[in-house]
Amino acid sequence: MKIFLLPLTVIAISFTQCAGQSEKAVTAPQTQQTTIMNPTPGHHPYYSRTDTTKLVLADEVWKKILPEDVYEIARHANTERAFTGKYWDYEGIGNYYCAACGNHLFKSDSKFASGCGWPSFYESVRPTSVIYKTDKAYGMIRTEVLCGRCDSHLGHIFDDGPPPTGKRFCMNSISLDFEP
Ligand code: FE
Repeated sequence: MKIFLLPLTVIAISFTQCAGQSEKAVTAPQTQQTTIMNPTPGHHPYYSRTDTTKLVLADEVWKKILPEDVYEIARHANTERAFTGKYWDYEGIGNYYCAACGNHLFKSDSKFASGCGWPSFYESVRPTSVIYKTDKAYGMIRTEVLCGRCDSHLGHIFDDGPPPTGKRFCMNSISLDFEP
């Protein structure tokens, strides 16, 4: 009798383990979820002016949800031509947000007339609003400024700004959304 029971027991245990593995694989998909708490009307579903958690999207998703001109500058680090953007000499009072994700970047209080042809600010609204990266393109060593939430390209930062920081955030208008 024992001779017949042993193989049956082994088969039963093996079946249980396989079933368990199969169930685990189905019920625990490892996909990244982005919770959209407060979608802003008129923008894509990942755009938020209140959510500061990191936003990571595949390039094909960015390409689908952003207008082509925003996509080229924000996701491929292109630069708009000087004196062509809508904010380089704009003096409206309000706030500037990332055009790609809605992250709050600058206040108009920190905007100044640099004359360089791009909107210029002497400080970001929060230290974590932006992140910095060394850029060695075109034979120069510059510091690239990216959105702290979505890593989109905003522009570069230079040391020739006014007090109190002495910094000049030289931004692409197309990377910014202004709200009065
Ligand atoms: Fe962003």
